[in-house]
Amino acid sequence: MKKTLLLLLLPAVVLLCWGCGGPQKKETAKLSVTASFYPMGELAKGVGGELIELRVLVPAGVEAHDFEPSPRAVTALGQSKVFVYNGLLEPWAQGALRAVAEQPVLACRAGEGLYRLPDGTEDPHVWLDLGKAQLETERICAAFCEADPAHADLYRRNAALYTAKLAELDAAYKELGRSSRRKTIVSSHAAFGHLAAAYGLKQEAVLGLSPEAEPTAAALGALTKTVRREGLAYIFMESGASERVARTLAKEAGVKVLPLDAAEGSGSGGRSFLQIAEENLRNLKKALQ
Ligand SMILES: [Zn+2]
Repeated sequence: MKKTLLLLLLPAVVLLCWGCGGPQKKETAKLSVTASFYPMGELAKGVGGELIELRVLVPAGVEAHDFEPSPRAVTALGQSKVFVYNGLLEPWAQGALRAVAEQPVLACRAGEGLYRLPDGTEDPHVWLDLGKAQLETERICAAFCEADPAHADLYRRNAALYTAKLAELDAAYKELGRSSRRKTIVSSHAAFGHLAAAYGLKQEAVLGLSPEAEPTAAALGALTKTVRREGLAYIFMESGASERVARTLAKEAGVKVLPLDAAEGSGSGGRSFLQIAEENLRNLKKALQ
């Protein structure tokens, strides 16, 4: 008798469970993230992967140092949940954040406190020190976890995987710094202060921190002397505005030119930041060992 009752009730129980355990896997919206320029977008992608909807403000081919966001870009920034920026390279960021102060945008200044070089100057290119890039990644992870706590475990797992890759490359750069015969890198734009400081190298740049300036004849002459004194066979250039300058210097000093990418433009030919860092390492080995 009891058994029959149970059998009669069974379909109802099944139906009830169907109701509560049914297709409840709602499509959760992606976390909308705005990143200032290419490397910030790359680190954000490393943490957010498929969980974020990413927009990078500085378009491909535009010099990051000279960028100013349009009013439309600022409005779009206000609609995102998280804004990731490096700091120092985006003097417009504070104004943009003030303009969208009414909106709940979580600002993540990933390079905060990391700008100072051993000589006391401040240099925005912190992501080229892969130890500092790991710190920036962890800060981005903290911001994503705060803005989207439901996926915190996934962000943390992604960030751990990404920082492990950065750490592996960081160790290879350190090894290069220890073992290389030459220690001086001559580059066009002074983007490699953090890279040099982290890996025991010395940067001599034709141009200043911003790649737009024109070099003086005296500066070119001094660098030619450095190239000869250090017995360098290669100097470095970035693609873009400063390329011509590096070529002029190379011709004058009788050396070859290798690319060294500061990874600050998104015109990096579809390569990831990790690929750029690997390629830079190969070219540094070629020039310094
Ligand atoms: Zn730069």
